[in-house]
Amino acid sequence: MEEEEIKAEICNVMKNLYEKNLVASLGGNVSARLPGKEYFWITPTTKFKAGLKPEDLLKVSVNGELIEGKLRPSSETKFHAAIYSVRNDVNAVVHAHNPISTALASLGIEIKPITVNAVLTLGKLKVLEYETPGSKELAEKISANVGNSNVLILGNHGVVGLGKDLAEAANFVEMLEEVSKINLIAFLLQSLDKRLTLKTIPEDEVKALIRYFCKE
Ligand SMILES: [Zn+2]
Repeated sequence: MEEEEIKAEICNVMKNLYEKNLVASLGGNVSARLPGKEYFWITPTTKFKAGLKPEDLLKVSVNGELIEGKLRPSSETKFHAAIYSVRNDVNAVVHAHNPISTALASLGIEIKPITVNAVLTLGKLKVLEYETPGSKELAEKISANVGNSNVLILGNHGVVGLGKDLAEAANFVEMLEEVSKINLIAFLLQSLDKRLTLKTIPEDEVKALIRYFCKE
């Protein structure tokens, strides 16, 4: 993938998040880089997120310094930079405000392994406590705790998907919302009728799936 393709793809991913109700008009941010590069492209702050064009994007070094671009970079540029600087395998970072994932996490409702996607998400998930958006502390907390996770929940804020490319990072964000939605529906139905029993994927199978799909 060439630089211009990556920039166009960032705009597409951002538009998709908006259309799927995972961010509001000015919310969320997306970045990506060509593998091995010491800089990445990121969405600007305070601009309608479904109407971004490649020329609106900003080029930023993995140290967080602005290299190129007319607009102001996303307020979360610090944590994108922090992720790229600790994870050579990550070439895309997608941050959204998934309503259901964020609600479940705020209530401390655990996501259960109801579906295979839930297992695969859980195998790569890390939940972090609240930190002020845009702060150095949030960036430090993420880089210190990201490990080999591909999907993070930021307490009382939203979620972050990480991937080898934009498709993978965006998929983690969407998959987390999908499994959160299934968990919410099951949780609500069960609380309406206590006789209902929630069947989850057996523990041995969960372990085997995680070993197979979430290793490294
Ligand atoms: Zn946010």
